[in-house]
Amino acid sequence: GDATRRYRERNPKSARLARAATEVMPGGNTRSVLHTEPFGIRVDGAEGAVLTTVDGDQVVDLLGDYSAGLLGRRPEVAEAVRGVLDRGWGYGAMGEPETAFARALVERFVSVDQVRFTNSGSEADLMAVLTARHVSGRDRVVVFDGAYHGGPMTFLPGSAPLRVPFDFAVLPYNDTAAVEAEFTSCGDEIACVLVEPMLGAGGCIPASPAFLSALRSLTRAHGSLLVMDEVMTSRLAVGGAQQVYGIHADLTVLGKYFGGGLSFGAFGGSRHVMAAFDPAQGGLTHGGTFNNNAFTMAVGSAVTELLDADTLKRLNERGDRLRDQLAQAMAPVGFCVTGVGSMMTIRPAPGPVERWSDIAGVDPRWRRLLFHDLLARGYYIAERGYLALSLALTEQHLDGFIAAARAFAEEHAD
Ligand code: PLP
Repeated sequence: GDATRRYRERNPKSARLARAATEVMPGGNTRSVLHTEPFGIRVDGAEGAVLTTVDGDQVVDLLGDYSAGLLGRRPEVAEAVRGVLDRGWGYGAMGEPETAFARALVERFVSVDQVRFTNSGSEADLMAVLTARHVSGRDRVVVFDGAYHGGPMTFLPGSAPLRVPFDFAVLPYNDTAAVEAEFTSCGDEIACVLVEPMLGAGGCIPASPAFLSALRSLTRAHGSLLVMDEVMTSRLAVGGAQQVYGIHADLTVLGKYFGGGLSFGAFGGSRHVMAAFDPAQGGLTHGGTFNNNAFTMAVGSAVTELLDADTLKRLNERGDRLRDQLAQAMAPVGFCVTGVGSMMTIRPAPGPVERWSDIAGVDPRWRRLLFHDLLARGYYIAERGYLALSLALTEQHLDGFIAAARAFAEEHAD
């Protein structure tokens, strides 16, 4: 109560803008995740990793646009955009940049021979599942409790799902026995297993290697496809979580940071699977006026050039270090920190956390308190406790953040 009252007082212009937004957009936004009580911050601009709010506050951005903002505000991205501004855009024709971008992605992901671009990760996930259903000639789709595959395929308990009418089997995450049982009872009906190698929105809960490996062998044995949603985990290595785990998907879904902060999504797989979209072979239709929008296509190649193996490795090491420090800082209040590499979630509950149900029943007011407390100290994370490091963050930003977390924990211990 106190924290939100103070927030209201400190942000009068944001409050006014929030009221105006509520009149023309339900809930006052067009992106449900940005809904926070009493209202989300309004940002005017950014310099490095520091955001300036419309009320003139400066806050260090640890959210990194839910992982899409990996690069931060980079001149190379601006340069690519400027190039398009000079040449023109929106032609209803193909250009050279999409081939270069597609080639860069194919070179990174061992299991991906060919890709198709979409406007978002949500759309790419839908396309991947539809592709798997088409290729297998089956309907059933295995997904996991706590998974987030974009707005239309959300399996986060507590959220009102806007669910596409697929025949879903929703199983517990990291539970190999449950998947085995599902395949034993109806393996020949399963088109695909759709899995995040780390539950992202569901709390940065990594898959156990044994679980992913079981998904690979069960799908293979039953003629189903393994679809890996690497929208978030693709930042773990040049070849994504698949490279880290040494497990290859039949279809891979990409999104977020490859667009350098612009709308982006892609799905891809083996030549054999993707042939479904070749007019000379499968002939499946995949439309989308903006699938090859000139800005994202130009930016994508610049992003892949900037993010080499070494850069990603260092970012992940930095994240691992920060997660350890954060867990120590949070010990007085008994919170744990989950995640891998540069992505993490602060949980108002003790660990270990292997699946969503491990943190069920936690009072959501803790999260809001943490969020508002850190914001008042000048650090911006997601209300659900999520953060994703960007390359724009300096050591001073991270040290300051740990100090803020420590101050929060000391204030609220017992
Ligand atoms: N899949 C995962 C794992 C995600 O984290 C997201 C994030 O939003 C999506 C899919 C959807 O991507 P987008 O927001 O681009 O639609």
